[in-house]
Amino acid sequence: MARVALVTGGTRGIGAAISTALKEAGYDVAATYGGNDEAAKKFKEATGIPVYRFDVGDGEAVNAGVAQIVGEVGPIDVLVNNAGITRDGTLHRMSADKWHDVIRTNLDSVFHLTRAVIEGMRERGWGRIVTISSINGQKGQFGQANYSAAKAGVIGFSKAVAQENAAKGITVNVVAPGYIGTEMVRAVPEDVLNAKILPLIPVGRLGEPEEVARCVAFLASDDAGFITGSTISANGGQYMA
Ligand code: NDP
Repeated sequence: MARVALVTGGTRGIGAAISTALKEAGYDVAATYGGNDEAAKKFKEATGIPVYRFDVGDGEAVNAGVAQIVGEVGPIDVLVNNAGITRDGTLHRMSADKWHDVIRTNLDSVFHLTRAVIEGMRERGWGRIVTISSINGQKGQFGQANYSAAKAGVIGFSKAVAQENAAKGITVNVVAPGYIGTEMVRAVPEDVLNAKILPLIPVGRLGEPEEVARCVAFLASDDAGFITGSTISANGGQYMA
């Protein structure tokens, strides 16, 4: 029987590439999203991957959503915590709302989802949890105190949960992407991209969503069974943690 993979925010951007790569690797994939029904519908039609709408920052909604996926697709073997948002602003102007929105969606969500699947993984004696952090969680970023805190938080979380579950056949790892050529980054004017962003990246180009997806697919595989509590930096050499 195929293993089941749940990808949060799996209908767009990097998440869509992860969902697709896992499907191609033979998993039964469930992709979740937050509110963009149109993008989710397009993704489902293009890939045949079932989609589920719930707010990853809401613990009760997560529990209900995970229960529905378990009922319809099967017990979850691989969890990919990918859903995330930015609400940028320097700290001296940052509202509490911007802080809480980002912590709730990018960090609380990782607790809710992991908590919802961990007992089943422990009972079955196998599991993979991969969380998408960011280069800005590793090095900090001007205007992103909230985002940097949340993305650093998932690294500490993963190291703790990796220790707690290593003896149960469960690995817990992180992928920290740098600049990836998603719609948002590609929308940056070309002169800004060439003058300000590309010079920071020794490899000399943006990353592709598929390159992040391949890191996730590797960490999800049996081949990666000796890797836990690790962070793979996929950033073209921009920051060497
Ligand atoms: P996108 O904005 O393209 O997609 C985000 C996905 O997360 C969407 O599916 C969205 O759903 C979902 N989502 C957002 N908020 C919620 C919520 N409250 N509940 C449920 N789902 C939600 O993101 P990217 O592909 O750019 O980023 C994916 C991950 O990678 C994020 O964690 C991001 O921080 C990280 N990252 C991205 C980088 C980049 O260069 N793009 C660099 C480093 C890290 P919906 O479609 O309904 O809005």
